[in-house]
This record gives sequence, C-alpha cells and structure tokens, in this order.
Amino acid sequence: MDNTDLNNFNNKTPQVLVVDDEKILRLVLRRSLTKEGYKVIEASNGEQCLNICDQKLPDIVLLDARMPIIDGFTCCAKLKDNFASQCPPILMITGLHDEESVERAFEAGATDYITKPINWAVLRRRVRRLIESSWTMEQLKIANKQLARLATIDGLTQVANRRAFDEYFNNEWSRLVREEKPLSLVLCDIDFFKLYNDTYGHQSGDECLKQVAQILSQAAKRPADLVARYGGEEFVVMLPSTDIQGAIQVAETIETKLYKQAIPHSGSLVSDIVTVSLGGASTIPSVKSSPEHLFAEADKALYQAKLAGRNRLVSVNY
Ligand code: GH3
Ligand code: MG
Ligand code: MG
Repeated sequence: MDNTDLNNFNNKTPQVLVVDDEKILRLVLRRSLTKEGYKVIEASNGEQCLNICDQKLPDIVLLDARMPIIDGFTCCAKLKDNFASQCPPILMITGLHDEESVERAFEAGATDYITKPINWAVLRRRVRRLIESSWTMEQLKIANKQLARLATIDGLTQVANRRAFDEYFNNEWSRLVREEKPLSLVLCDIDFFKLYNDTYGHQSGDECLKQVAQILSQAAKRPADLVARYGGEEFVVMLPSTDIQGAIQVAETIETKLYKQAIPHSGSLVSDIVTVSLGGASTIPSVKSSPEHLFAEADKALYQAKLAGRNRLVSVNY
C-alpha cells in the first residue's frame, strides 16, 4: 500500500483475519496482505476463527470454504448470527469451478467471494473495497444516530423539543389508557420575558432560558418524566403515572429552585428576580378524552395563573 492508499483508511491499519487450513496458503496470504499494509491474524479452522472474533472483531474475514471441523459455510453463518450488524465483511475463498460453493457462501451470508488459485490483483481490490464500504457504513450509522438525536433535542436548552414531546405525549397517553394510571402536565412560562430581553439583551435571555430548562430537568427527575421546550420561553413538563398532588409537588420544587437561583430581573413587574407562571393539569387518560384536551386544560390553567398576577401555579384535576 502506498501513502495515498493509507490515507483512504484514515491512517488506521485494517486487521485481516485469514482462516484457512492450509498452512502454506495462510503464509502466502499473510505475506501479500502485510505488504499491502494490513495487519494479518491467522486461524487454521472455523472454531479458531469464532474464538478470535469473540475476543476482537477484525475489519474483514478471509474464509476458506472447505475446512475440517467447522467448514467455512457453517463458520460464516455463525459469525453472521453472533455479530449481526456488527459482523465484519466476509470474503469467502472457494474452488475455481465450484459453483455450488459460491451459492452456499452467499446463502451463509458471505459478502463476496474469490476463487482459488488466488488472483492477487483481484484479492487486493476486493479486500480493499470491502473494508472501505464497511467503514463507510459504520460512519453512516453513527451519523444517523446523531441526526436522530439532534432531531429530538432543542439546540439552545438541550431539553427535548416540541416534536419529541408530541410523540412521547401521544405514546404515554395510549399506554396510560391501558394502565388506567394518571398523566400530568405542567406548563411553565417565564414572566415578563420580553422585558427581560429588553433589559439584559437577547443573549442573556438565552442564558436565562438555559438555566430555567436546567431547573425544570432537576425538578422532574423520574426516568419517565420529560421536560420539553414547547415554544420560545414556554416549557412543558410531562409526568406519567403521576397524579395532581405529584404535579403540584414538582411545580413547587420548580418555584423553590428558581427562587434560590435568584436570576435578577429588574424589568419584571411582579418581582426583582425571574419568576414563572405554571399551569398544571392531571387526568386518568381514557378513550373518551384526548391528549389535546389535557394540554388545553393545562394551557387554560396557565392563562389563569397569568391573569391572577403571575408567579404562581394554577392547577386542575379532571
Ligand atoms: P408574560 O409574563 O405574559 O409571559 O410576558 P412575556 O413577555 O414573557 O411574554 P411574551 O409572549 O409577550 O414574550 C415572550 C418573549 O420571549 C418574546 C420573545 O422575544 C422571547 N423569546 C422567545 N424565544 C426566545 C429565545 O429563544 N431567546 C430569547 N432570548 N428570547 C426569546
Ligand atoms: Mg412569558
Ligand atoms: Mg409566552
């Protein structure tokens, strides 16, 4: 492998596991592949191959089809079974005119095959291509996971976003209909937040939002609880299997923590620190009602809290 080739592998040395019962062939394969820049590990039968893979997975397995004890096909199927999506590509080595083996190799889950006697140029190309595409797949999987996570998280506050809330809310509603257990919501809206921005600037406003989100997350601490940013300066706390008493407790914890944090808000018309208005609603989900209705009740309660002078909780149990 020359330098440009190495660059394609991000300077990592790919490991090739060579599984063949013929010592001479293993030796020749090792020489050829080492020269290409690979690290070569050897196994002389299928059993050894499986043991090695249990310890550490190579980047590719070169697997002889015909071997004693555990043959290549059985070994291939076992690797696929044991490691599923983690399984490295398997390049099967079959006899030149052995069409049946080629069929069996693919049935057992082999990624590709080459024939004996080995054509070295073909081997080189195939090993390279298989490792490259499996590494690309690996990176895609990681990127997809990150994307899925990003799609559910609010970038500023790092709590769940509205989309994630809507999905979880509907799922939990259905689950709790079956379990006949209560579901509570606490809507939380920062008081006079426009005046906060006007007084301290938008960036400080962002910092304030982060702090409030953190307080909410600390207050709703059961594994099933979810804090989400619902809109600009409005959050929602969802509390599955929690009745109105539990919701009131969480709301009071939020108020206490916020009071202790004492974020200055000289522009506020009800206090000299940041306060929130809270709207709580609780019900036992049933097919006669809907998640939308529960949310509307919490929203109404929040509106009442604002109307009654802000910096307080209004809650409803229905
Ligand atoms: P109220 O007590 O009635 O809730 O008054 P308020 O000023 O908090 O409510 P209003 O809905 O009038 O204003 C909300 C403000 O929140 C206006 C908007 O600029 C601000 N806001 C919304 N999203 C963000 C954000 O991401 N960052 C910052 N800094 N401000 C935001
Ligand atoms: Mg507000
Ligand atoms: Mg608002």
